[in-house]
Amino acid sequence: MTHFDYICIGGGSGGIASANRAAKHGKKAAIIEAKDIGGTCVNVGCVPKKAMWYGAQIAEAIHRYAPEYGFDLSVNHFSWDSLIASRQAYIERIHASYDRVLTANDVTLIRGFAKFIDNNTVEVNGEKYTADHITIAVGGRPIIPDIEGAEYGIDSDGFFALKEQPKRAVVVGAGYIGVELAGVLHALGTESHLVVRKHAPLRNFDPLIHETLVDMIHAEGCKLHDHASVEKVEKADDGELSVHLTNGEVLKTDCLIWAIGRKPSTDKIDIENTDVELSDDGTVKVDKYQNTTAKNVYAVGDITGEAELTPVAVKAGRLLSERLFNGQKDAHMDYSMIPTVVFSHPPIGTIGLTEPEAVEEYGEDNIKVYTSSFASMYTAVTRHRQMTKMKLVCAGKDEKVVGLHGIGHGMDEILQGFAVAIKMGATKADFDACVAIHPTSAEEFVTMT
Ligand code: FAD
Ligand code: NDP
Repeated sequence: MTHFDYICIGGGSGGIASANRAAKHGKKAAIIEAKDIGGTCVNVGCVPKKAMWYGAQIAEAIHRYAPEYGFDLSVNHFSWDSLIASRQAYIERIHASYDRVLTANDVTLIRGFAKFIDNNTVEVNGEKYTADHITIAVGGRPIIPDIEGAEYGIDSDGFFALKEQPKRAVVVGAGYIGVELAGVLHALGTESHLVVRKHAPLRNFDPLIHETLVDMIHAEGCKLHDHASVEKVEKADDGELSVHLTNGEVLKTDCLIWAIGRKPSTDKIDIENTDVELSDDGTVKVDKYQNTTAKNVYAVGDITGEAELTPVAVKAGRLLSERLFNGQKDAHMDYSMIPTVVFSHPPIGTIGLTEPEAVEEYGEDNIKVYTSSFASMYTAVTRHRQMTKMKLVCAGKDEKVVGLHGIGHGMDEILQGFAVAIKMGATKADFDACVAIHPTSAEEFVTMT
């Protein structure tokens, strides 16, 4: 039986951040990780996804824009293998860097799958470990639907394991992952279909965003099938899949990807041996300090059902350790006004309330909305124009900016700075008081009338 001051179950974004911070405050900390260090983000999430997205951006630049910028290019071949090899080498470097930091901070990495024995004891590979404080940071995993032939499809983990580029792909799902994977595959030359069961992907984003996204998907050439669900999947002897949709269409494809959401990984950790209560969806119930219903047991990251984003897990994990181990009695995560980007084509950036949400919260008469729509300058000199659309949602007499939304070239990098201003409570007048940077897309946010 080995005792620690602090154990984090799960070596992903939240667990690593929290354990490192505890160790920096002199605590004897351990991380238990069943798979690769870095968790979803590093291994099957943000990092490999962004590498693929950059690859897709290069493909678009070469094929769509380079000729009119004067480049007479002939591309002989795109090597999926090379892109994957570069991506995985980068991930290996991240693993090595995590190992170095954990070693430098004296955090023990226990490799294996943890199960609870009681509130302060876990078992890994037959060994028991106790701790004064335990944080559950086990994240989630992709959902596969319960329909005939679903097993012929893969999930986002399977996408990152693909050894060859599929010639044709069907992506099912209307969230971040569906949009991002369909976009990447399409830009890299796969004949891609995105199947969504309602009117649009990302339908909970501001209407300007999801309506523009639908237009863009059509304009870029990826095939969108709306109001369609998958009824069943069949596999032929040669491996070809037939994806039967509820609207009567049958899509023939080489690769089917389920991107219909993720479920929390609390089902296999013997949580019933603790006093930790779960919500109906399997996420861990926590208060604003990340306390679970069990004494000295906490939870951070995706497993809490809050915004499933790496920086959210990291911040919550660090703040928890500041509170537990550095005397910051009131340190806790503020889950309001979280900026987020979807790496679509072009990217989407958004923070705060959508226009319908703001109307609901403040009343229509107290809301003023500013919009801007233009062809991004990057594409304005080429025949293949790509639109940028932006919106500011302002509330009250002082026109406090309560929502900022954009889709267009560079939006992924534009958002962060504006998010700082909005988090500080900026008004439309504050935006206007800032001199524009010209010529950029971002300047539109400070020149809207
Ligand atoms: P995770 O990172 O999932 O880590 C949990 C870890 O716990 C895993 O390594 C798992 O193996 C381990 N584990 C589970 N059970 C046990 C057990 N019993 N014992 C030991 N170990 C266990 N977010 C962004 O901010 N930006 C993005 O661009 C982005 N892109 C994404 C793309 C994809 C395809 C996906 C799937 C997610 C993406 N996310 C992105 C979300 C982001 O990856 C997650 O929000 C983040 O990883 C959550 O961190 P976490 O620590 O809560 O959980
Ligand atoms: P999401 O929950 O975001 O989206 C999945 C969507 O698929 C649902 O919203 C739903 O949309 C649709 N859906 C659900 N069930 C079914 C079904 N049975 N058949 C067809 N469609 C269905 O999950 P994702 O897996 O896309 O992403 C998980 C989370 O990971 C995201 O919410 C995000 O927080 C994070 N992430 C962040 C990224 C980033 O920061 N760039 C990138 C990728 C993931 P509808 O109801 O409209 O049909």
